[in-house]
Amino acid sequence: MNNSLRNEYLKVMGVQQWVAREALDADGAAGAIDSVGTVDGVASLDWPELEKRVSGCTLCGLQESRTRTVFGVGNRDADWLVIGEAPGADEDRQGEPFVGRAGQLLTEMLFAAGLQRDAVYICNILKCRPPGNRNPSMEEVSLCQAYLQRQIELIAPRLILAVGGVAANSLLDMDEKVGQLRGKVHDYGTQKIPVVVTYHPAYLLRSPLEKRKVWKDLQFAQSVCANGQAGYKIT
Ligand code: URA
Repeated sequence: MNNSLRNEYLKVMGVQQWVAREALDADGAAGAIDSVGTVDGVASLDWPELEKRVSGCTLCGLQESRTRTVFGVGNRDADWLVIGEAPGADEDRQGEPFVGRAGQLLTEMLFAAGLQRDAVYICNILKCRPPGNRNPSMEEVSLCQAYLQRQIELIAPRLILAVGGVAANSLLDMDEKVGQLRGKVHDYGTQKIPVVVTYHPAYLLRSPLEKRKVWKDLQFAQSVCANGQAGYKIT
């Protein structure tokens, strides 16, 4: 069993671990694991440092199969932060999230809702592609979490749109179907950022009739973004 998997099991079992802090390498690319299994020092990185840290990340096995990391793209002062699951083959090749068929559909749906792709910020729960597009493992999500958390802090969006069950359940620490999660305002972190959940565009490619529901979700997200959380039930 590798160390990071062992750390994850111990964490889940509530066993506190004391791990020597490794020195970061000269340009800060290594990323040591601290005593609670998170990525050391990420919480204080600025955008260029964070991007560099992600591009050199070796925390999990996905480093071996990825072509490149997929950090995120768009407006770093955006009101909307769109979070997907993980890069697919096209994203892994191009280094940008949501550029394949599902990504084109996402861009079109945002546009239909009055949002240009470059007006929002788009990223994923995982920064590397899981081989064969399998679902991310718990360990991968947990090791990648500090990067996303820091992106959220730096952007401080008015709204997070979680696309798909993996993104929603990872963000909200839940285990529910998208159908159960949509149509409500959830909240993320101590900042209590409103989170709206919708279907993943890859699902819409297979089930185009569900586009109407996503359209409703985007309108709902617009109203949440405009009005904040006031008047909405927080679950
Ligand atoms: N699916 C995702 O969840 N993210 C991408 O970047 C591409 C496809």
